[in-house]
Amino acid sequence: MNDFWKGQEKNVVIHKDGKMNIVESMERWAFDNSTMNQVALSFEDEKGKIEEYSYKEFFVKVNQFSNLLKEKGIKKGDRVALFLPKCPEIYFCFLGAIKAGAIAMPMFEAFQSEGLELRLERGDARFLVTNKELLERYKKIEHKLKFLKEIFVVDSGDFKKELNKKQKYFDTVLLDKFDTCVMMFTSSTSGTPVAGIQLPHYGLVQQNYTARLVLDLNKGDSYWCTAHPAWVTGAIYGVLAPLSVGCSVFVVGGRFDAKHWINFMKKNKISKIYTAPTVLRLIKQDIHKDDFKHVKRLCSVGEALPESISEFYKKRGINIIDTYWQTEIGAIVIANLKHKKGALGKAVGVNIKVRDGMMIIEKPWPSMMTGIHKHEKMFKDYFDGKWFKTNDLASVDKGGNFYFYGRKDDMIKTSGERVSPLEIENILLEREEVKEVAVVGIPDEVRGSIIKAFVVLNSGFDESEKLKEELGLFVKSKYAGHAYPKIVEFVSSLPKNNAGKIVRMKLREDKR
Ligand code: AMP
Repeated sequence: MNDFWKGQEKNVVIHKDGKMNIVESMERWAFDNSTMNQVALSFEDEKGKIEEYSYKEFFVKVNQFSNLLKEKGIKKGDRVALFLPKCPEIYFCFLGAIKAGAIAMPMFEAFQSEGLELRLERGDARFLVTNKELLERYKKIEHKLKFLKEIFVVDSGDFKKELNKKQKYFDTVLLDKFDTCVMMFTSSTSGTPVAGIQLPHYGLVQQNYTARLVLDLNKGDSYWCTAHPAWVTGAIYGVLAPLSVGCSVFVVGGRFDAKHWINFMKKNKISKIYTAPTVLRLIKQDIHKDDFKHVKRLCSVGEALPESISEFYKKRGINIIDTYWQTEIGAIVIANLKHKKGALGKAVGVNIKVRDGMMIIEKPWPSMMTGIHKHEKMFKDYFDGKWFKTNDLASVDKGGNFYFYGRKDDMIKTSGERVSPLEIENILLEREEVKEVAVVGIPDEVRGSIIKAFVVLNSGFDESEKLKEELGLFVKSKYAGHAYPKIVEFVSSLPKNNAGKIVRMKLREDKR
């Protein structure tokens, strides 16, 4: 690591022998007189019920969960899958697992049984933390997942009783700094559509730095990150980075509701926000003068930030700062701190170049992924010598400002969430009616992109509106509620290249 990052190590807890565990950098605020009684987590559910934990209270829960895992035989490097909606438990179980030396593996609640099975199996999960409602999806696949050692159901009486009986202190398991703390499932179009990206403890050096510099987080700030912890933004900048700085993290649960969310922001006098363009678009109509009175910094990530959105918020007195990074990178690496019109911004802490139209980053940097679980070749393919390939197309001007053009591969971003077309295609191919299928993202005013499936039917099956609907529902109910084709079009053939590979780009261009 270069001298700059070595210099940043002082802001997180690293032991003299180089060992660390990121949870120590967060728990330090529970022992500090100025922060121990400050809110660490304030959670409001969709009905408006609030659960609030001070730093002291929050880390009691973290420790109790670490103790529970220890009693159940957790070992260093075991993977703990967290399959939960936003709720206080997902936050303290996340950290409790890491504190006990395990790897936290959050999974989005919209996954149905097949999406869940794929991730539990690919990730070699040993423990599963879920709730009564989501447990039903697990039950359908239980017989295939014998490797799971223990399941915790956080809204069951047993779990609560057992947890409360546990010791309030736990001796942190210290690890090598490049050991994995979090494994994020993300989608790709190479190797496998779903893979576990391993992020190291040492990444906190960069995550803490960028949280202070870009998100402007300071001790005591009331901060809101709208992403679910199963997406990298929600894990890194929704949990780890803000708690390492000593912020009060505010979370609103349940489905998106513009009025509720705006009210939540006002009521809690949120001063710093990290969100996605889709959210900014969806709340637009419900915004009134002065709603952003308390907001001092508003940052955006995950998809292109349209000029019209920036302008809209500017008129209401707030300049949005666009930021860029991806799961594999592990921390913000570009930020538009100077509000350059139409730009992603400038590189932060790393050296980024554009080669053949694609952004490449010079390695190493602290938060860079250290591997892809069980996919060594796929991991290697990301690198060309000392350069990491982002797969994102951009240009850069003389002043070092980057301008984003899109993905080099076929990855779809819908509502800021990354979806591999292969994942959806594989599910649709399970249907007897479907002979061939190609899935693409098409531009959408609100969601950035929506998913569209081009389907060639097997002979003997007729095209109908009913079948279109059935195919969409099939993906929704079987695989993932958030990543199903909203549009289905029947075609007689799909465009292919000489090697017989489907050219999705052609469908995106021709068939909008
Ligand atoms: P994820 O790994 O799910 O965070 O997705 C990362 C991808 O989201 C990147 O590779 C980009 O394609 C896209 N992305 C992230 N930030 C931005 C941004 N500010 N503008 C446009 N696209 C973005």
